[in-house]
Amino acid sequence: MRIQANSIYEADTASFLHPQTNLAQHLRQGPFVIERGEGTWVYDEHGQSYVDATSGLWCASLGFSQERLARAAYDQMTRLGYYHSQAHYTHPMGTRLAERLVEMAPVPMSKALFQCSGSEANDVAIKLVWHYHTIMGQPKKRKIIGRQMGYHGSTCASISASGKPDMHRDFGVPLQDFLHVSMPHYYRFHEEGESEEEFSARLADELENLIQTEGPETIGGFIAEPVLGAGGAVPPPKGYFERVQNILRRYDILFIVDEVICGFGRTGEMWGATTYDLKPDMLSCAKALSAGMAPISAVLVNDRIFDALLVQAGRVGHFAHSATYCAHPVAAAVANEVLDIYEEIDVVARAREVGAYMMELANREAERPIVGDVRGVGMLCAIELTGNKATRAPLPDVERTAEFIAERGRAHGLLLRAIGPTLAFAPPLNSSKEDVNEIFTRFSRVLDDVELASAQAQ
Ligand code: PMP
Repeated sequence: MRIQANSIYEADTASFLHPQTNLAQHLRQGPFVIERGEGTWVYDEHGQSYVDATSGLWCASLGFSQERLARAAYDQMTRLGYYHSQAHYTHPMGTRLAERLVEMAPVPMSKALFQCSGSEANDVAIKLVWHYHTIMGQPKKRKIIGRQMGYHGSTCASISASGKPDMHRDFGVPLQDFLHVSMPHYYRFHEEGESEEEFSARLADELENLIQTEGPETIGGFIAEPVLGAGGAVPPPKGYFERVQNILRRYDILFIVDEVICGFGRTGEMWGATTYDLKPDMLSCAKALSAGMAPISAVLVNDRIFDALLVQAGRVGHFAHSATYCAHPVAAAVANEVLDIYEEIDVVARAREVGAYMMELANREAERPIVGDVRGVGMLCAIELTGNKATRAPLPDVERTAEFIAERGRAHGLLLRAIGPTLAFAPPLNSSKEDVNEIFTRFSRVLDDVELASAQAQ
């Protein structure tokens, strides 16, 4: 049943519990209704248009509507709308998708296991770390190291691996056996005179010290996003992953690379792992896998993991993990079509070209007194605001400023994601230069408003 436009506010506040939303404020002001989308643009219920700077939640990689994907979903739903993939069953779309992902993986991978979301993919990867070491006779090797402000999802294990204090507080997480090291945010945390390489070395030492303090025989896995996404859109500093990976190898620690944001072209390569020369044992992906249009995610596992599973399956008869919607045929059909489109439009070349233009536009804002850092890679960039350019002091009232920026953005027809003092830009991978230009023209106006407001406040 279609809700009447004039009652959606009451219906929503009465019935819909929104994640990552200020609930009291929501009850007071009601929802912001998006009714339709086209390309990089979305439209509210009054027909007002907005250009979306971050593909919704970093996922609508082909924009907000796609007839081709609708057709792929329709064809699959009318042919075989559901079947499972347990007990040896499969269907062509699931098998095809697994084959393609293994083929296109950044390092040799053995198999793909499917789930519905990035959170679940990371949860399963963590379970597999535990499973692997148990099979290998080291059941105590189960601690997982994540990074402060890393984000891997909201399920119990994936939020535990994440380093988000606000999402831990009052939820009784992180669970036992989850540890965190500093985030590799050079701009924010480097010491006076410290080079990127020196900063990376300091963080690598911190990781190694933690492993030694806890006991290497207790550390099972390390999880990281190639570019730290929801925690601030932070590309790694020079030398960081090289040092980290050396340590992981030294202590026999499995490496999970979370490509949920970076995968499928975002970094200007098909994978963030390629951009930063990462050698994961497991790789999780979601979001752009289906261009955000169907809930599907995957964990790719290498031979080392699969061979262990095979040993265990030989002992007990089967791989004891279950998922009703593993490789859901409709979602898999959408994902296969998305991968076709990526090939046809050469998504990587496009992300590089339009991304370079985006970076140029972002850098034009660098001279403003409130802009502390401009950073990015491929078609992902960030502008971090500061209260004092010289000292890099944080903005005096980050939360209010973020709210003000979101509000001014909407007033200028721009939907922005503020992560504390940082604005992230990751528009659909098929955005045109004109779309990106619209984003930054509007964003410039928003920054004018922020500067004006701060001048008036003084
Ligand atoms: N990993 C990363 C890097 C993410 O950015 C996200 C979501 N923003 C997740 C995992 C979780 O994905 P989902 O919301 O689909 O569970």
